[in-house]
Amino acid sequence: MSADLADLRERFLSLRRWRSESGRRAPHKPLLLLLAIGRCLRGEERLAPFAIVEQKLKELLATFGPPRQTLHPEFPFWRLRKDRIWEIDRPHLVRQTTSRDAYVRDLREHSIAGGFLAADYTTLRANPSLAHELANAILHAHFPETYHADLLQATGIGHFGAGASPHQDIRQVAEVADAEGKVYKTTLQRPRDAAFRQAVLKAYCERCAVCEFSVRLEGAVVAVEAAHVRWHNHAGPAVVRNGLALCSLHHRLFDRGAFGLDDSLVIRVSTKAKGRGRRESLGRFDGARLPVVPTMSTERPAPEFLRWHHHQVLRP
Ligand SMILES: [Zn+2]
Repeated sequence: MSADLADLRERFLSLRRWRSESGRRAPHKPLLLLLAIGRCLRGEERLAPFAIVEQKLKELLATFGPPRQTLHPEFPFWRLRKDRIWEIDRPHLVRQTTSRDAYVRDLREHSIAGGFLAADYTTLRANPSLAHELANAILHAHFPETYHADLLQATGIGHFGAGASPHQDIRQVAEVADAEGKVYKTTLQRPRDAAFRQAVLKAYCERCAVCEFSVRLEGAVVAVEAAHVRWHNHAGPAVVRNGLALCSLHHRLFDRGAFGLDDSLVIRVSTKAKGRGRRESLGRFDGARLPVVPTMSTERPAPEFLRWHHHQVLRP
């Protein structure tokens, strides 16, 4: 049996309700879904034992999730059933806590397995392009673009295929949704994106705010990008005060929480960032005021956005 395509899409794409109003990041369910889509594309068994999921999801949460002391891979494994896309074998063997979550010990000891519903799994197996489309929509709804390639690799989904840039894919998702009269809207708005990039690069004179890198090639700015301080898909507006011009390297490091800025625009480097070249590319800026700031104070990063980044992204 396979699932109705429109119904499957709607269930998977109603991702928005997983985001809390407070802007607190909630990547548990998205990461588990990406893992399961990867399994499906590789033709692995539909249901995976919790022990396997637990290990992998912990790694993903530690690497791509918000800075938190404790990781709870059992939350999405158990809660995703309510979203009509997930199933668990022998749930009657699992005791529940007062907050109606599963006892991790029961999941482990009884080797409880979970995965997509059988009909959905069959449909996704037969339509790899649909699986890729859903993965792409999940990525855009929950993570900045600097995460996408790394996440696709870490979840074993792989590339979206030659000639299909993420931008093209997301436009496809929007068209499909529109044609079927669904309320789902893509989070990526191209014209506004372009205006945001232009305004931010101008405010920083086309230089990386951290290392001052600036290159034009044949007249075009290369490898200097407009980063959102508070992510666009977490209610971060496309305004200069929520932007930073950063070179590709510092954009990636900033989005992954390797460094942040305090309210007075002093750079704070995470103690977790280790490795070769760290001192030259990152460490030497620790404690320094951001070298490049917009001349107009009204264009400098606003504390409200910096604080979101500090709590939801920066690794302490
Ligand atoms: Zn830089």
